[in-house]
Amino acid sequence: MESAVLSVQSARDEVLRHCQKLAGNQGIETVSILESFQRVIAETVTLDRDHPPFARSMRDGYAVQAEDVGGAPVSLRCIGEVRAGDTPQVPLKSGEALQIMTGAPVPEGANAVVMVEHTDRQTDNQIQVLKSVRAGENVAPQGSERQAGDVLLRPGRRISTLEAAILATAGKADVRVYRRPVVGVLATGDELVGPESVPRAGQIRNSNSFSLYGQVLKSGGIPLLLETAKDTLPDLRRQIRRGLECDVLLVSGGVSMGKYDLVEPVFEELGVVVHFESVSMRPGKPTVFATWKDRWVFGLPGNPLSTFVAFELFVNPLLRTFQGLPPADLPVVKGRLQSEVVERSGRSAFLPAHVTCGSGTLEISPVSWRGSADVFGAAEANGLLIVPSEAARLERGEIVEVLLFEELRYAKEARL
Ligand code: AMP
Ligand code: MG
Repeated sequence: MESAVLSVQSARDEVLRHCQKLAGNQGIETVSILESFQRVIAETVTLDRDHPPFARSMRDGYAVQAEDVGGAPVSLRCIGEVRAGDTPQVPLKSGEALQIMTGAPVPEGANAVVMVEHTDRQTDNQIQVLKSVRAGENVAPQGSERQAGDVLLRPGRRISTLEAAILATAGKADVRVYRRPVVGVLATGDELVGPESVPRAGQIRNSNSFSLYGQVLKSGGIPLLLETAKDTLPDLRRQIRRGLECDVLLVSGGVSMGKYDLVEPVFEELGVVVHFESVSMRPGKPTVFATWKDRWVFGLPGNPLSTFVAFELFVNPLLRTFQGLPPADLPVVKGRLQSEVVERSGRSAFLPAHVTCGSGTLEISPVSWRGSADVFGAAEANGLLIVPSEAARLERGEIVEVLLFEELRYAKEARL
């Protein structure tokens, strides 16, 4: 078993090295457009026909020959109307106009549409055009947006609102997307009770299962909450075995140096291979990364913020890989520090901070909190200020880096 303390970078590299083994072997499934939101496309989507599929009127008005109305005002013979969904039957000749609605096909012979606002209907079959139009004006030619066979979406693109519109337009009622990994969440600790309970002296309520549940969901996984395990070998064995049926198992608590931190001995018994068990970071030092067959296992330190940070740094890249996204890019932004920060741990620190848009730069304000158990303070933050291990102090006004929480990520994620 590896007992060295890894730097955050080396630990992430180790996770990413394993992610590479997964890349290319992710599961794929087919879902409907409505089921596809936030999923990642696993196929190349092409257009089945030109778009627009016919020369389309962009206005309500009259289809005309632009040459006829150069000397507007001019009168034209109105030969009927064409509505969206219709197909005009006869070509338009010089001296004629055809009333047309937005989205209707422009008839053969016509090369422009005069907006209804620029016409005057004189009789049923006579209109006056008050303003000239250029050839092509208010007409979207067939295939002017995209043509049949054009690639619209490539694998790796996350489906959001306009992607859904593209799928529908392309006739992709069903789309192939990467499978979402099932992520077991196992809280451990004799002291834990559920949020519905009134804790006895010495007990606390389990909060990690709930924050992890949310983190898994936001990262695109399917969270599965397992029954909390006591700090006993039989209970841990049973629950960890259960958890190993999931694609990924997150165990919270029980991985520090305490006498009843028994998670790692159980990993060893069950043949779970540990790749690292200690990372030089604050919070989150006793973070364990392991594999068992084709399953992935993380032991996350029990303190709520330690669990949270370790998830963002190490679990999120794996869940991204499962979904066909590049794992490597951490959503980091730079901004100006608003108050001095002193960090004595000598480890890389990830401190709750609030990022706001200042004038021209992002402004980063550390949030007051009382350490890795304090979710209340941390919940005021929208990111984590990164204090490099070699920096003992960051000055006010310095340009620093912040790891954004998931909410802000999509804004930063580059379109593929
Ligand atoms: P451990 O890593 O098991 O030593 O736990 C470290 C600290 O985190 C202890 O104070 C635990 O009571 C607390 N803790 C462990 N698991 C949870 C949990 N699921 N929810 C909230 N606090 C926890
Ligand atoms: Mg514990």
